[in-house]
Formats: sequence, C-alpha cells, structure tokens
Amino acid sequence: MSDLNIIKLFEAILDKSSIIVGDDLKSRFYHIWKTDIPLESMCLLLPKNTKQVSSILKICNDNQQEVIIHGGLTNLVGSTKSNKNQVVLSLEKMNSIIEIDKNGKTLTCESGAIIEDIINTAKDNNLLLPLNFGARGSAQIGGAVSTNAGGLRVFKYGMTRNLVLGLEVVLPDGTIISSLKKLMKDNSGYDLKQFFIGSEGTLGIVTKVVLRLYQNPKTRYTALAVTNDYQNVLSLLKFMEEKISKNLTAFELLWNDTYKQMVSDKTIYNKYLPDNYKYYVFIEYMGGDFTNDYNTFEKVVIESIDKGIAEDAVVGRDEKEQLNLWGIREDVAVLAEEKKFDQQFDISIPVALIGEVIDKTIEQLENCDGVKTIFPFGHVADGNIHFIIGKDSDDDNLKSKINDIIYTNTEAVEGSISAEHGIGIDKKQYLIKSRSKDEIELMKIIKKSIDPKNILNPGRVF
Ligand SMILES: Cc1cc2nc3c(=O)[nH]c(=O)nc-3n(C[C@H](O)[C@H](O)[C@H](O)COP(=O)(O)OP(=O)(O)OC[C@H]3O[C@@H](n4cnc5c(N)ncnc54)[C@H](O)[C@@H]3O)c2cc1C
Repeated sequence: MSDLNIIKLFEAILDKSSIIVGDDLKSRFYHIWKTDIPLESMCLLLPKNTKQVSSILKICNDNQQEVIIHGGLTNLVGSTKSNKNQVVLSLEKMNSIIEIDKNGKTLTCESGAIIEDIINTAKDNNLLLPLNFGARGSAQIGGAVSTNAGGLRVFKYGMTRNLVLGLEVVLPDGTIISSLKKLMKDNSGYDLKQFFIGSEGTLGIVTKVVLRLYQNPKTRYTALAVTNDYQNVLSLLKFMEEKISKNLTAFELLWNDTYKQMVSDKTIYNKYLPDNYKYYVFIEYMGGDFTNDYNTFEKVVIESIDKGIAEDAVVGRDEKEQLNLWGIREDVAVLAEEKKFDQQFDISIPVALIGEVIDKTIEQLENCDGVKTIFPFGHVADGNIHFIIGKDSDDDNLKSKINDIIYTNTEAVEGSISAEHGIGIDKKQYLIKSRSKDEIELMKIIKKSIDPKNILNPGRVF
C-alpha cells in the first residue's frame, strides 16, 4: 500500500493533529543525547489511548507496515532510529497517572508517563518509586519497562522488572493483553509480562503499567568516601552492609579521571575531597528517623576511616550538598561533552573482579591510538560499570578496536555486554559475546511467534 493510502487509514482513527507528516517531521528528533538527529519517518503517530494503539497496529500488521516505538528517546543504543518507510508511534500523549493505591502501595499509569513525574506523585503520597537514573526527567515508564532499566538503587530494590506488578500491552496484530493486577504473587500459568519487560519493544507496545511502591523514607544522606585499593572498595561495601544494611540504598563508584573531570572548572560541582585518590565511592543512606539518622550514618562512615577501609570521607548534610554530590555521580553529560565523538559502554562484571578488569581495560585503551579520554564509573554494588570514551574522530576502525577491547575483557570473565541499556541496533553484533547461539535462537522463535510479519521494532536486539 502507498504511504498516502496507509496514512488515510490512520486518519480514520486519529485526529489530524496526532498524525505528523512532511515538513512538520523536521522539527522532531529521535535522540536527545548529545546530538539531536532529525526524524526520518513516513509519519509520526501520537495515539491518545490503548484502543488507538491497537487499531494502528492492526492496520500496520494487515499491511506489513514496519513500526518503530518512541518513548522518551533517552536510550543509548540507537533503538529508536527509523527510516522514511517506517511509521513512528510515540507514546508521549499517553502520560496520565491513573491511580495511586496508598494502602496497597501501587501506582497505575499510562506508559508515556515521565519517570520523574511518577516519582514525584509517589512522593506526594509519602511513597517511593525507587527507580532512579540520570535520564529520569525525560525517560518514560514504558521505555524503562521495555529496556528493564536499572539505575542507582538496583542492588537494594532490583531492576524495573522487580517493580512491575501488572502490564497492559498491545501485540503486533493489535490484540490487547491487559493484566493490570496489583498482586505480588501470581503463579497461575506463565508470567506473560516478563516477555515484554526488557524485550525493547520487539514483542508488543506497553500501554499501561502497575508499579510496586515502597514507603517513602524520611531521610536521605550521601557520603563520598575515597580509597586507592579496590579491595577496600569491596571491604567498604561489606562493612556498610553489615552496619546499615536496611538503610543502604546506593553504592556507586567513580574512577580518578572521572572524578577529576566532574569537579574540574568545567562543571558547577564542588570538590569535596582531593582529586588524587584512585576510587571515589558514593554511599546513599535512606531511613525513617529524623533525629538520629544523620549521626548513625556519620558514625559508621567515621568508623570505616578508623578501621583503614576508607582513607577519607565526607557526609552531605543538607539538600544542597546531596544535590552537589549526586551531580558529580550522575551528570554524565559532562563526560560525553569533553570530546566531539564518544563511545559509551554499559557492561556487567562479577563485583570482585571489577578492579582488575577495569585496570587492564584502561591500560589497553591508553595504548590505543586515537583514544583521548577514558571515563569509567558505575553501579559497583551490582557489578555494572559504564565507560565514556572520548575521541576526536569517528573512524570505524578505531570504533571496533575499542569495542573489541571492552567486550573481549568482559567476555573473558563471563560478564555481559549490556547490563541495563539493552542491545538496540548498536550492540547487535556483540550479542553473541553475552548469549549463546541457542539462547539467541530461542529469542528469535519467541519473536517469530508473537510478531510473525516482523513489523514491530524490526532489526532491534538481533
Ligand atoms: C544521562 C542518561 C543516563 C542514563 N542512565 C541510565 C541508568 O542508570 N540505567 C538505565 O537502565 N538506563 C539509563 N539510561 C538509558 C535510558 O534512559 C533507559 O534505557 C530508559 O529506560 C529509556 O527510556 P525511554 O522512555 O527514553 O525509551 P526510548 O529511548 O524512547 O526507547 C527505548 C526502547 O524501548 C522501546 N519503547 C519505548 N517505549 C515503549 C513502549 N511503551 N512499549 C514498547 N516499547 C517501548 C523503544 O522502541 C526502544 O527500543 C540513561 C540515559 C541517559 C541519557
């Protein structure tokens, strides 16, 4: 069917303002990270409800029309790229929060709701959505579900998967599968929602989500501790788990060059501790005792110095200091802006091996002509390390040399080439380094059985 004819079919479902075509597409972009790339698409559709999503997919499936799903466009693996023959469906108009159940501690919303809005709604009701990462102001909950997003509190609360109780999803043929139950336990047959969590929009469009919430903590404090020895990073984690396990909500790490860049005169962040240590650990404490929590946490941090585990530390007391400390950890755009071209990595490594694997990787990258900056950082307690590697050129040979260094070292310790960002388009060729041939075959069988015409997010993951 011609582009014009298929758009006519969409016009029977959506009002004109929800169908963007021609020159109006030029003001839309498919990525907001560092570069905004003009959207290439036959048309962009902005459905307002699940029924419209279903009707759109039915038309596309009947006409073998490929559809690319757009959430908040913050992914880092090229998964929302499209071409001029593809229809783009954006969930941005489906952003309402439908219900908050204070007693059951759940929140039900449409998938286009922005994560930060959900966090704030939960907070207004004295509840916590623990999902927390740098892109929360733009990323949508549907995108987080589809990528099984992680972030800063995974080791305490788990990935997005652990926070999803119910889902409504539209299959490629338009069938609506709605299971918006608020149950923590439901073993009545296959747990179908798991197919859609983390499958990067290849199996269905998530339209509604039921999230599990937690009691909102009354206090939040952050410490920055330093050491020169990775064994001490591990000891510090163990020490904190022993002393304050139920209050320990994040344990993050920056390497020296990354810290230096984040507190340099190019940023707005205060340098709380000198920049000559090898490791900078961010420890978050959340609790329920206004009167004593700060002192309890400070005491434990001081004890870690007295015992020689940390060499020095500071504890942020007020909101301003918390924001400054977390800015140093989270404002990774500063690292990407340093060089015109960069490559980003999101690997998983067994926690005990992180020190030696990253040392070896940095040494190999330093010997790689064309690499200008190396910024490692990450969610060390759950084994997830990121790299932003800056270059002055976009040379393909250099790109694959860098990929090979990082992924070979990751594969050697049975790590993962994608801890939380997904595979998208950019990492497809390296999937085999993390998953066996049989696993990939099984993924393809599942894809084929749910989307036999391969219309939904084709070419992503494998
Ligand atoms: C500064 C920064 C920091 C980040 N930090 C983290 C981090 O700590 N942890 C982490 O996990 N990620 C992180 N990310 C990556 C990114 O924010 C997450 O992958 C996020 O979950 C993507 O959500 P989104 O709404 O932007 O989805 P998009 O980028 O729009 O889409 C991502 C994928 O999901 C699909 N999709 C989107 N919405 C739906 C839907 N409703 N139904 C089906 N498929 C859909 C898309 O087609 C695409 O394949 C970071 C990104 C940035 C820019």
